[in-house]
Amino acid sequence: MGLLTLTARKLNERIQDGQVTVVEAVEAAFTEIESREAELNSFITLDREGALRQAKEVQQRIEQGICTGPLAGVPVAVKDNICTKGLRTTCASRILEDFVPAYDAEAVTRLRLAGAVILGKTNMDEFAMGSTSETSAFGPVKNPRNTEHVSGGSSGGSCAAVAAGEAFCALGSDTGGSIRQPSSFCGVVGMKPTYGTVSRYGLIAYASSLDQIGPIARSVEDCAALLEVIASHDEKDSTSVMRADTDFTAALKEDVRGLRIGIPKDYFGDGLDREVAAAVRGAAEVLARRGAVVEDFDLGLVKYAIPAYYTIACAEASSNLARFDGVKYGYRAAGEGLHDMYKRTRSTGFGSEVKRRIMLGSFVLSSGYYDAYYLKALRTRALIKRAFDEAFARYDLILGPVAPSVAPRLGQSLSDPLKMYLSDIYTVAVNLAGLPGISVPFCTDGSGLPTGVQLIGDCFREKRLFTAAAAVEAAREEGYHGKTI
Ligand code: GLN
Repeated sequence: MGLLTLTARKLNERIQDGQVTVVEAVEAAFTEIESREAELNSFITLDREGALRQAKEVQQRIEQGICTGPLAGVPVAVKDNICTKGLRTTCASRILEDFVPAYDAEAVTRLRLAGAVILGKTNMDEFAMGSTSETSAFGPVKNPRNTEHVSGGSSGGSCAAVAAGEAFCALGSDTGGSIRQPSSFCGVVGMKPTYGTVSRYGLIAYASSLDQIGPIARSVEDCAALLEVIASHDEKDSTSVMRADTDFTAALKEDVRGLRIGIPKDYFGDGLDREVAAAVRGAAEVLARRGAVVEDFDLGLVKYAIPAYYTIACAEASSNLARFDGVKYGYRAAGEGLHDMYKRTRSTGFGSEVKRRIMLGSFVLSSGYYDAYYLKALRTRALIKRAFDEAFARYDLILGPVAPSVAPRLGQSLSDPLKMYLSDIYTVAVNLAGLPGISVPFCTDGSGLPTGVQLIGDCFREKRLFTAAAAVEAAREEGYHGKTI
């Protein structure tokens, strides 16, 4: 892999020193992409020409001393539900197969300003609905660690690209775990920031009150640097927050001494694989050795997170996806008259998981069922937030699993959607409560598949997460847990 074994920060240093040019970095990424893509399918659209053009411009800006940021010259990948001006953005759906946005998402604008070079758009579950990246209309993504297994979802393409060395880091989106879970499956670092930290302008909505763009990288430092670049207050997103503490990389100098870390006992129920539970206990030991105070506690309400999440997410999705009607965007099927055209467009343009969720969402919002389902889910959401508030009165951080298992085999999950939904148990509550969460690789199981651990913080406490994540990462690099990944 040559250059591609470097972290984004190391590559940036070499570029700033003049040892490597931006064009060389981009060429190295495309060489890797050419050798791996046929097998992995991490990308939906590649933009070699555009990337080389950007590389030359950025090189000039660097030489003129006007582009000095931590990601200047770094080749990155962007999930295909994040709009890129002039570059096809499909959401992995047939219905947006030919959609070319007229504008950049705010996070993409920030990437470009920082001098990052966009290589292409990554594969994902259709409309970010799924946990395996198998619902894509462009075929499934394979896990670079073992191509018979899924990469996770829905940001599976972004995580696979970063894990395989096809890109140095990537943007993903997380509505119920879509950054953290595939990061765990692929052995990379992924963070879902506090709701409102990264502008959602230009992110194609799945469930607006839960969606958040976030960074995916090969090291905690890269992840913090990428979040620093994309976090911004944006008037174009009314839920975007003005924050003063976005110097996330500063947190890497801190240590975990004295941090109070709670592990929810309720996370260790029947469905959790032994290896994953051992990883969480291993990470707890690492943190305790370094001076953190770790203990078990009862979080409560854990079993209500999945039903509340799927009710709310599907309700919002059914409303957000109403705009895809064959008139305003992309694909249109031939039909006899307007209604027939709508029906045929939506029947043939959406895949079955998306249709299932639109139907579920329309049902829970329909009069007669609204109070029984949607309103009850909103009330449950408020109670879940309160349970976290109580936990954070006692603990600085929560440590737990990311997913109940390592990456399943391809084809295993789709036959039973309910089972797939249940595997989101450790991630969805974080979105319901608007909290930040990070997945850090910890170890591999007997067959060599990675498993991460999840750290959850109170709102706006990303820095603590980065401090603790760096400690877990350092212990892993020291070979603490036997097998390093
Ligand atoms: N697996 C969850 C879902 O299908 C989460 C997806 C996501 O975070 N985009 O809704």
